[in-house]
Formats: sequence, C-alpha cells, structure tokens
Amino acid sequence: MAFKWLSHLHTRYILHRHPIPHELWHRLMRDNALFHGLTSVEKAHLRELTTLFLHQKNFKGTQGFEITLNIGVAISAQACLLILHLGLEYYDECDDIIIYPGAFKVARQTPDEMGLVSHEAKVLAGESWLQGPVIVSWDASFAEMEKTMPGHNVVLHEFAHKLDMLNGRANGMPPLHRNMVREVWTKVFTEAFEHLQTRLEHHQHPEINEYAATSPAEFFAVTTEYFFTAPTKLRRHFPKVFTQLCLFYRQNPIKWQSGSFS
Ligand SMILES: [Zn+2]
Repeated sequence: MAFKWLSHLHTRYILHRHPIPHELWHRLMRDNALFHGLTSVEKAHLRELTTLFLHQKNFKGTQGFEITLNIGVAISAQACLLILHLGLEYYDECDDIIIYPGAFKVARQTPDEMGLVSHEAKVLAGESWLQGPVIVSWDASFAEMEKTMPGHNVVLHEFAHKLDMLNGRANGMPPLHRNMVREVWTKVFTEAFEHLQTRLEHHQHPEINEYAATSPAEFFAVTTEYFFTAPTKLRRHFPKVFTQLCLFYRQNPIKWQSGSFS
C-alpha cells in the first residue's frame, strides 16, 4: 500500500513538474481529427498519460534529427490514445522510441513473426521490435496528422504491435480482458483475415488496406488503425472485429463521430 501511495505521489509530482504547455496541447487537440471526438474528461486523462509517457520513455532522433517537445507530445498522445482506457502499464515493456526524420531503409530478410514485425518490405514508415524499440518516421506521422487519412496512422499501427506482443509474440492477439472470450476473438479474427486473403486471391478490391492480409499481426495492427481513424468503415465491413476491438480497447470511437471520419 505504501508503495502504491508513493507511486501516486511521484505521478502527481511529474504531472506538476513537467506539464505539457497549454498552447501546444490545445493546438494538437484542435488540429487533429483523431482527437476531436474525445470528451473533455478523456482529453484531460489523455493529457496526463501523455505527460507521463513522455517523461518515462527514451525518445531518440536518428540522423541528427532533433526531437522537439512538439514532436514528442504528438507521438506520445497518439500512442496513449490506444491505452486511454487500459493504463500506462500496457507500455511497460516499451522503453525506447526511435524517430527517423523520413522513411528509412532496412536490409533484412523475411521478418520473423516471433521477433520483428516490419510495416513495409524495404522502405519503412515504422517498425516494432519484441522487447525492443518502436521506430517511426516523423515525415509519415506528420503527413497523417496534417491530413487525416482514414485507415492510416503509423504511430497507432506500431504501438498496436507493442500491445499484441504483450503475450510474448506478435500473433494478432493481445492479452484479453476477463469479459472477453479467447475462442471468440480467434474465430472472429481468423474468419476476417481469411476473408481478406480470399478477396485478394480472387483479385477483388480489398475492403481495407491489403497490408492487413500479410499476417494476423498485421491484421490486428491495420484494423486498429481503422478502428481509430475510420471506425464506421471498419464496422461496416468487419462488424465482429469492430466489436472485439471495442472490448479490448474499452472504447468505441464511433461515438466520437462528428462527420470528419468515414
Ligand atoms: Zn506492422
């Protein structure tokens, strides 16, 4: 109990000592459709989580890229949107966030499902490592924030991989809550994944980004992107997946609808 009390005190201290400037936070919330539907209570909670996340994690820029407070807050706020109703401890195993100024090249063989999940084959916008860093291209993230692209958000994508990996592997199933049923999750996601693969095999237009058909891990990461940036589209095409994601993230972005998303 004493530890919990001390930890709470430390949290209050950080929030008090390292506040995100009001102007900066207000601009981020105002200019990015991703946050428009949040209630004022949720925004206040997101601000606290973002402050703590920013303070706890190591942000590193590559190629001389300087991580300004603006950039750190923007990345952190998007990452924390995923865990808004889960808690910061879901990112306990994610200490390092590496930011490239632009897309980056990797020379690796086929990604290992157990360890590494690549977002794209050779030129990447983001990457997540099991027990390792999350890597994001600022160019890609900035472009997505400037102009909301339904179904596309590299920060949400890479941090969804981190949640997926909490079970020790990237297999498209994060640790489920008590009110969720493992068999239901598996059935729903397997059917949706196979449906998407079949469409692609038959050269039919995929309902969502075809990258989701790469693996179950990518399916979870891509549907998470849709869940937050194009929830009605995800619910229209994959209603059962949408319901499972509502249960896992403990939020329903459709209630946010203000006409800016599709
Ligand atoms: Zn991915």
